[in-house]
Amino acid sequence: MTEINQMSGNCNNHDNSDSQNNRQLKMKSTLNSFNPYTSRIIDLGKGQCIGGGHFQAIAGPCSIEGEHIFELASLLKASGVSILRGGAFKPRTCPDSFQGLGKAGLELLVQAGRENEMLTISEIMSERDIELYHDIDILQVGARNCQNYSLLKELGKTNKPILLKRGMATTIDELISCARYITQAGNERVILCERGIRTFEPKTRNTFDVSSIAALHNECDFPIVADPSHATGLSALVAPCALAAVACGVDGIQIEVHENPQAAMSDKDQALTPNEFKNLMHDVESMHAFLTR
Ligand code: PEP
Ligand code: MN
Repeated sequence: MTEINQMSGNCNNHDNSDSQNNRQLKMKSTLNSFNPYTSRIIDLGKGQCIGGGHFQAIAGPCSIEGEHIFELASLLKASGVSILRGGAFKPRTCPDSFQGLGKAGLELLVQAGRENEMLTISEIMSERDIELYHDIDILQVGARNCQNYSLLKELGKTNKPILLKRGMATTIDELISCARYITQAGNERVILCERGIRTFEPKTRNTFDVSSIAALHNECDFPIVADPSHATGLSALVAPCALAAVACGVDGIQIEVHENPQAAMSDKDQALTPNEFKNLMHDVESMHAFLTR
């Protein structure tokens, strides 16, 4: 079994078994009472799970810009990624900035996912768009909509896993309450995402609150994903912060990757090249293997 398989979120790897229990017990004895791998296991479809020891790497461009998504998807798949991300409806700060390809972008993402046997995830900004996301596997609620309760309630009525990003001024308790809006409407498949919060520090785009990962694991059983791309806004800081998140027990990471970051139509300063991402994946695998040894 390769290292990638060992940390795979493939549901078939989960045997509810002694090996998983042993792993959890070992984590417990190593880190005292801290055991991050006990979150609920969420079935993502197509044989993939997250949580309870199933780790997922989510990667792709900030925005789907066109046909580039096909080549990028196959490179990411080769690096061990099972979930392809890409924004089609983009929440941009400035109305003059590229707003995403909309429906056409979603269609490209679905096609690239199918061709490479990957799950897909994309941000949904309004409940009015739910129909458009019919063929997208996982719906992402972005930081700006974390506390959009009407959207959360509607997503709670869907049968798709929801990745809920922490708002830039949302406390840990508020984030859990936001997740409960989704579960109370009937959808238990919620994944939380730490993507940095806004502080007084201007050096980074946001401040990566790595302690929130451990705190959330203590407070609730939702799987947790870390997004060091938006947390830092700087490509040089993405790998070290991704590894910090893995050390803190995340169930997955989400990383922005672009074949030519300087030409990216959004978030170019934080995108990794496919090669940088591949190297990061090796380090993530080593770190994960160490923690679950
Ligand atoms: C994104 O993932 O593309 C995004 C806009 O992230 P956030 O909502 O965390 O800013
Ligand atoms: Mn982005």
